[in-house]
Amino acid sequence: MAVMRAMVLDRIRGPLAVREVPAPVPPNGGVVLRVLATGLCRSDWHAWAGHDEISLPHVPGHELAGVVVAVGSGVSRWTDGDRVTVPFVEGCGRCAWCLSGSAQVCPDQRQPGFTHWGSFAQYVALHAADTNLVAIPDGVTDEAAAALGCRFATAYRALTGRAGLAAGEWVTVIGAGGVGLSAVMIAKALGARVVAVDRGPGALAAAAALGADHVLAADGARDIPGLVSELTGGGSHVAVDAVGSEQTCADSILSLRRRGRHVQVGLLPSAVGHPRVPMARVIGWELDLLGAHGMAAADYPGMLALIERGDLRPQDLIERVIGLDEACALLPVLDTASPAGMTMIDPQRAAPDAGA
Ligand SMILES: [Zn+2]
Ligand SMILES: [Zn+2]
Repeated sequence: MAVMRAMVLDRIRGPLAVREVPAPVPPNGGVVLRVLATGLCRSDWHAWAGHDEISLPHVPGHELAGVVVAVGSGVSRWTDGDRVTVPFVEGCGRCAWCLSGSAQVCPDQRQPGFTHWGSFAQYVALHAADTNLVAIPDGVTDEAAAALGCRFATAYRALTGRAGLAAGEWVTVIGAGGVGLSAVMIAKALGARVVAVDRGPGALAAAAALGADHVLAADGARDIPGLVSELTGGGSHVAVDAVGSEQTCADSILSLRRRGRHVQVGLLPSAVGHPRVPMARVIGWELDLLGAHGMAAADYPGMLALIERGDLRPQDLIERVIGLDEACALLPVLDTASPAGMTMIDPQRAAPDAGA
């Protein structure tokens, strides 16, 4: 595998194209995977738009499942043929944060598709494999496993490890794209009651199908916090901004009841400015503002057990599987024309004109 097909970005906000590039070799302590499935996420759009520091040419992609095809020196837990997934944050495996199970905030972290070439390719290199790789249980499909790495695991950790969501509590989920729908599914599985908010009727229908107790159509002018307060008897206990904008962040915070917990999941990159946050309400009502940055591999077993049991079904969030060539056209418009549900890419699929 000297060369591979990959989606390549040559300049920020430029066109994406699939072409042959050198295949990766395993780093020390890392592996190379043949990519079996990889998710298209709004974070990929942020990288394309120049909101992350990436070096060009670049290969995006950070939600993936694959099979190990090459192992670097110093790897003890993994071997060729292992079917694995990985959190989008790869901890270094050596620092105090990684050693205590919090690789998602490792100061020396790597991220495929951001700090190095990602998974919109036939092969991807991953670092610190013994810390970051997660074996995929037999009952979990490649596509379902790929969905975990960013959006699903982040939603899971946001509601469990960060917000401590309890059965019977109300949670408002603002934005019903991939991460928002994941949050709706997880919240319902935890026994919570859900208000889902989005601008798109398709997204709201998907949220309702997953069991959201109420759906609210936002239009930029509607008083979402007021409506949530009416529906929930004074505001939700937990609110998640799964979009990442000044308005959705504020709507999430203002939808809370007193002493509620807000989790910021949608990205608010410094490159696009700092949002105004209603801190007077935060103080007066003793609200908690929490961040969520993925989930370390060390925390995957609890989530995987719920998936194996069928209590969580990430595969139900996947609306379509496409090839790399189709994904090139979809990625640049993800912020404005994001299709409902999750989009998965099969990077091994031949090009449309390959004649296979
Ligand atoms: Zn570390
Ligand atoms: Zn992502």
